Formats: sequence, structure tokens, C-alpha cells
Amino acid sequence: MMIRKISLGGLIVGLLFACDNNSKKIEQTDEKGLFVNALIETKPVQSSKDQDAADDPAIWVNRESPSESKIIGTNKKAGLAVYNLKGERIQFLPVGNVNNVDIRYDLSFKDTVVDYAVASNRSGNFVTICTIESGSGMLENAIGDTIFPEITEVYGICLYVSPKDNKHYMFINGKEGEVEQYLLTLNGQFQINGEKVRAFQINSQPEGMVADDSLGLLYIGEENKGIWKYGAEPDDQHKSFIKQSGASNSDIEFDIEGITLYYGQEESGYLIASSQGNNRFVVFTRKDNKYLGYFGIAKGDIDGVEETDGIDVCHLALGDLFPKGIFVAQDGFNYDGEDKKNQNFKFVPWQNIAHLFDPALIIND
Ligand code: CA
Ligand code: CA
Ligand code: CA
Ligand code: CA
Ligand code: CA
Repeated sequence: MMIRKISLGGLIVGLLFACDNNSKKIEQTDEKGLFVNALIETKPVQSSKDQDAADDPAIWVNRESPSESKIIGTNKKAGLAVYNLKGERIQFLPVGNVNNVDIRYDLSFKDTVVDYAVASNRSGNFVTICTIESGSGMLENAIGDTIFPEITEVYGICLYVSPKDNKHYMFINGKEGEVEQYLLTLNGQFQINGEKVRAFQINSQPEGMVADDSLGLLYIGEENKGIWKYGAEPDDQHKSFIKQSGASNSDIEFDIEGITLYYGQEESGYLIASSQGNNRFVVFTRKDNKYLGYFGIAKGDIDGVEETDGIDVCHLALGDLFPKGIFVAQDGFNYDGEDKKNQNFKFVPWQNIAHLFDPALIIND
């Protein structure tokens, strides 16, 4: 049983700001306890002042040169941005109102192999698909026949590569609980096409999703309920609810937002979710989804992280800045000192999070 190293004395020193709906939101987290600091923050997104615009990140690992890895982030008012590990924006693709993004490696057709990103695009209720240039991490549009899901309003998206047959699949969900699964294929023109292979429904609005490429699982966050686990193969009927991922867990305040997986050896590792209502990230074991505890990102040299939408994590060494992996979180209220800026993404060295827990979480070498 994993216990917290530091019990929280309930001491929350936060600057409270009144919001339009009269509820109080903590816009600047300055807590002690199970909190780490961001090492890097990205350039703010381009949006109107006070817009909720940054949403979901995906980490792309440059396997030739890990320090040249990139973070792809959605700006749900404008398009897709690519950041380097120093937080500098190196590319912006004005593809529209993309909400969530995910990436996978090595989709192949004959001798051609590509890494790629998919994003749920609410401008036209379709899927934006880009290849990722293997040296630079730059995005290039790669849509074949545009995928238009039969979903009222596309919202969450994630990718899955089957451990059985190496087939690539995309899951996309909608605000009315629709979920669709597509088989993705590459053609000789560097285009990616999708064929719908499954559709199902959950009860209320979902968003965050992540698939486990070695255990064959799909996790779906139902924003005001908790996290569901499904079989990720098109014919796998498994469905179960993760205990302590909902109202029974006092560490969670809805919405459940971004969900990501930290891969350890074999079945080890963690399922991590954004508990948006209390600015926390809750951690479960990957193997049997046992609840371990939570962490947050507080103000240090860089401001803390509040009201997070999307997250991503990577267990691999990514150069000098992130030699033991990286955790990336969208920040709903980005301050530089007392100045409120547009939203951005924060990067945290994984080992700092791992050491908050007792025993420490896994740190891959
Ligand atoms: Ca938001
Ligand atoms: Ca994502
Ligand atoms: Ca949401
Ligand atoms: Ca912040
Ligand atoms: Ca800042």
C-alpha cells in the first residue's frame, strides 16, 4: 500500500479570484506538500485575452536525438502548435479549432513509415491528421479522405496500436457520449485514411482518453462520473469502472479531464488523470488501477498549474532537461508574476513527481 510521504495540513495559500458564476477558483496555486514545480513553460498560446484556448498536449519522442523531442499542443481557438523542450514554439499550423491531440509512431505502407498526429477538429467536426517529420518533429497535413465521425460534436481523441497485429486505431468521442473506433491506414501518397470498425455510447459527456498499447486497453474519462476501462480491440467487449476514480474519492473534484499512461516494465506504470476541479492529478497503478494518491504543480520560479485540461507523460530520457522523463500539463491560468497571460503548457521532470510518493513511483533508467 502506497502512502503519502507528506500529509497535507489543509494549508492552501492561494490567491482567490471571484469568477463570473460566483464560485471561487484558485488561479494561483502556492501549496506545500504533494506539489512539484514546473521546470519549463511554453510560450502562451495566441488567443484573445482570457480565452480558454490551450487544451491538450502530446509528446513526440525524437528517437534519434531525444533532446530534440517535441510537444504538440492544441489551441482550440486556432490550430496546432509544436514546441521544443525549452518551450519555444517552432511551428503553428492554423488548422482550426482542434480540441485534443495524440500521436503514434511507425504507421507503414510498403517501404514507407511515418509518425503522425491526429486531432479532433471542431471547426468542421472532422479529424485533422498530420505526419510528423522524423528529424524536426514538424507537422505536415496528411489527410486522405477526411474522416467525418457520426458524432454531434467531436471532443476527445486518442490512438491505439494493437499488440496483437500492430494495426493502428483511432478512438474519437463526442459531447453526447458517442465513441467511435477507426482503423487507420497509410497509402503511397503519405495520406492516412480511416475506416470505422466500432461505435458505442457512454452515459454522459466524456473527453480524455488514452489507450494502453501493450495491455490492449482503452480508458475513457466521463467528466462527471470517473474513468472507464474498455477492451481496445474492436471485438473486445470488456467494460469496467475504475474504483476510486469518481465521487467516492475525496481527492477528486470533477471534471475528470486529461488521461495519460506512464509505461514501466511489463505491466508496471501508472494511469494519471487531471482532476480539474481541485487542480490535482490523480495516480493509479497501470496493472490493476489501484489508487495511489495525487500531486499538483505549485508556484516556483514558474507559476503553478490550475484547472488543467489535457496532460501527457513520457518515461523516456529526453536529454539534459528531462533525463528521467517528462510530465506535461495544460495550465488554465498562466501568470508571469502578477501579469495574467494567455494559457500555456507546463513541463515537469518526472523524477520530481516520482519522489513525492513513498515508496517513490518508478523512474525508468
Ligand atoms: Ca479549459
Ligand atoms: Ca493528448
Ligand atoms: Ca472537458
Ligand atoms: Ca498557472
Ligand atoms: Ca507563466
